[in-house]
Amino acid sequence: MISVQKAQQRILSHFKPLETELIPLGAALGRVLTQSIYSEIDLPLFDNSAVDGFALQAVDIASAGANDPVSLKVVADVPAGNVVETDISQGQAARIMTGAPIPNGANTIVMVEDTDASQQALGDSVPDMVKVFRAVEHGGNIRRLGSDISRGQKIFSEDRVLRPQDIGMLAMLGVASVPVRRKPKIAIISSGDELLPLDSPLLPGKIYDSNTYMLTALAQKAGSEVLSLGVTPDRLEAVHQILSRAAESQPDLIVSSAGVSMGAFDYIKTAVEATGSLDFWKVDMRPGKPLAFGTCHNIPFFGLPGNPVSSYVSFLVFVLPVLELLSGGDVRKRMRARVLLGEDIESDGRESYLRAALKYENGRSVAFLSGHQGSGNLLSIVKANALVIIPSGVKFCPAGSEAEAWILEP
Ligand code: AMP
Ligand code: MG
Repeated sequence: MISVQKAQQRILSHFKPLETELIPLGAALGRVLTQSIYSEIDLPLFDNSAVDGFALQAVDIASAGANDPVSLKVVADVPAGNVVETDISQGQAARIMTGAPIPNGANTIVMVEDTDASQQALGDSVPDMVKVFRAVEHGGNIRRLGSDISRGQKIFSEDRVLRPQDIGMLAMLGVASVPVRRKPKIAIISSGDELLPLDSPLLPGKIYDSNTYMLTALAQKAGSEVLSLGVTPDRLEAVHQILSRAAESQPDLIVSSAGVSMGAFDYIKTAVEATGSLDFWKVDMRPGKPLAFGTCHNIPFFGLPGNPVSSYVSFLVFVLPVLELLSGGDVRKRMRARVLLGEDIESDGRESYLRAALKYENGRSVAFLSGHQGSGNLLSIVKANALVIIPSGVKFCPAGSEAEAWILEP
């Protein structure tokens, strides 16, 4: 038996990050930058108003108060998107909208709410005079050129996973296309005579193929392009065929589930070895002990266990880090937490990934098993939001003790 960590290391040593491609910003969510991004502009791009109001000279309204308004002559109207040439002299003001450039001569903005123009209806023409009921310090309500970002400033480092706010930032900088790692292409195969497609009626002894859907969704969630090849029956010739079809699309990875246990009809090994090689590892892990890894038609190949829970956990533990390395340059850190066990937990001494629901109690996260831990019971994962990891060699953890958990969904 080899440890989970050793198996992960051995697998990852066969991969390197994918090449860079330039893609439109609108398609870049979740993608990983391959270059740092520096701003080529100052932000704000120009001095502009932070509020709807009136641009004026602070000195004019220094004495303004609620019962002691100051009246100014309105000499210009500055909507956002327009530059107005009028200079604002003492005793004058310009109506101005949020984001509009500050007219020459003005040094302060007073909010419309602090004037008698606050009652104006939408579309009303600009008033001739405005009464100001409040003093504003010099420079008030002005967003200064370059006060957020200056030209040449580094905004993103290489290897940044782009989030929605990052996409917005790049757009603000005028970056229309971004250099990112190519998405991994992954071919997914299920195997077994018992598996039916979802549009088929249930027949005696048969079950629906769930792994194709689940593994496809896992790969998509990890940002991969998926080619779902469906189900191959347990016949050597059919397995050969589906592997050739998978290889034809030149994926970065082929992932199959089932057919790697000691069952009499498990042809995956023979078929893969005919065009490459396959190692069977007994990993010190539960669920998911049998794991097959090798190459097929020169493409890296994973043979995951067939039981859906084992398939799911094996994907997270072994395939996900590969996808992250390919698409992101490195394996991402898992969201982990120290949790209290809400019940006694027994293990068989292998590194165990137990399906658990975390509840927040008295300021601590407390883990309860989310159903029986059989490797076919997918409902245990459906109800789980964490995997509690019991280390190798540990057979009993009492309620109230601490354990590490891998957070699935926050
Ligand atoms: P095997 O590795 O072929 O012995 O399969 C182990 C268990 O996983 C069996 O109970 C299979 O019926 C089940 N299984 C295999 N593939 C799938 C699949 N694609 N969807 C649902 N269950 C599966
Ligand atoms: Mg089978």
